[in-house]
Amino acid sequence: MSGAKQSRPKGTQDFLPPQSEDRRRVEEVARRLSRLYGYREVMTPMFEHTEVFVKSSGDASDIVTKEMYEFRDRADRSLTLRPEGTPGVVRALLEGGLRGSSRVFYVGSYFRYGRPQKGRYREFGQYGVEAVGEASPLTDAELIILGDQFYHDLGVADCRTLVNSIGCRECRPQYREKLVGFLGEHRDELCEDCRLRIDRNPLRVFDCKNESCQQVLADAPSPSNHLCDACEEHFATVRYALDRAGMQYELADRLVRGLDYYNRTVFEYVSDRLGAQDSLGGGGRYDYLVEEFGGPPTPAAGFALGLERTMLAMLEPARPERRHLAFVVWMTPDERDEALEQLAKLRAAGIAARMDFDATKPKRQFKSADAVGAACCVVIGPDEVARGVYALKDMATGEQSEVPTNMIVPEVRALFRD
Ligand code: AMP
Repeated sequence: MSGAKQSRPKGTQDFLPPQSEDRRRVEEVARRLSRLYGYREVMTPMFEHTEVFVKSSGDASDIVTKEMYEFRDRADRSLTLRPEGTPGVVRALLEGGLRGSSRVFYVGSYFRYGRPQKGRYREFGQYGVEAVGEASPLTDAELIILGDQFYHDLGVADCRTLVNSIGCRECRPQYREKLVGFLGEHRDELCEDCRLRIDRNPLRVFDCKNESCQQVLADAPSPSNHLCDACEEHFATVRYALDRAGMQYELADRLVRGLDYYNRTVFEYVSDRLGAQDSLGGGGRYDYLVEEFGGPPTPAAGFALGLERTMLAMLEPARPERRHLAFVVWMTPDERDEALEQLAKLRAAGIAARMDFDATKPKRQFKSADAVGAACCVVIGPDEVARGVYALKDMATGEQSEVPTNMIVPEVRALFRD
């Protein structure tokens, strides 16, 4: 087949080695930490009925109005590539007969039709956890700590944690009224989007990046000053638990988060290393979402952290010069079978190993070993075989030593440890 070179769709990314391995390492930390906190992995479809996202994210949210990959299938159903994790997970838990509480986590791809730029893609990775059926503020605090530990373990520099409470069904209506009154007085100073938000979802104005809107909002009443007693107490316990755990965080009374379903605690991790797209991840409580999906009243909280932004904010990963890979080299065709046996033995011992099947000359095989960054070569030649030894070549130093055949596995392991 021949033809013009194809390029990837706008806003998508390829992960070739070693970046693909860096990315997997980030995912492994996510999985390990989630299990450590008692979460179990959940996998849901890449696309859902469009309604799942409209219902939960709010039909006036940016995601729903501007960014969804919505399409019709051949039977004319409206489906959407998932723009976020929580709605699908809640749908799945309910469909699976959610009983009691569930702690689940996910790692996967999400899709938003935004304007691509550094840290913003049309397909991106998220790691999320959901604690469904948990009402305690200790859950909120623990989530915040878990996210913080994720960044800490990955060596993300300059990560700050912002925390706020935006109230509940009891106290939000009064606050909303007050805010609408305030925004109404400043209608002329607000951008067009924010003017629309006044009627649709006034709290969202706090998400506006527009300079003039931000100036107006500096004097706006803040949600955390209008909490009912129960919300006040809940938020106080979140802060108490964070303080007890020695967690550093900032109270951010303008933080509301861009989705409709949050209540009470909201939090966000930001990094000064990221520029305009400074949000590494965030989350909060969403006590009413399960009910919206037709389930029983079920409190819940969770977070979603972006994988690409995490990688952008990480200190450059220390990449070993050589891979933990052993290359088996045979000198003459007589040793080929023995080389294949040795290859199998290394793999059986859990050591990554390969050969160059296409190269017959030893020189070419060494060259291949070097090109793929193998840490060592196990060299099998006629003289050595006669004496029951192989040569082990350290590819970083070029040093070569003779090793009894039955000692190859421990010697290769020792070399990897250096
Ligand atoms: P959100 O659900 O919008 O709060 O997203 C949670 C996190 O996912 C963000 O803080 C980002 O790290 C990441 N994220 C969201 N949208 C994108 C995108 N278009 N490209 C890359 N990362 C994203």
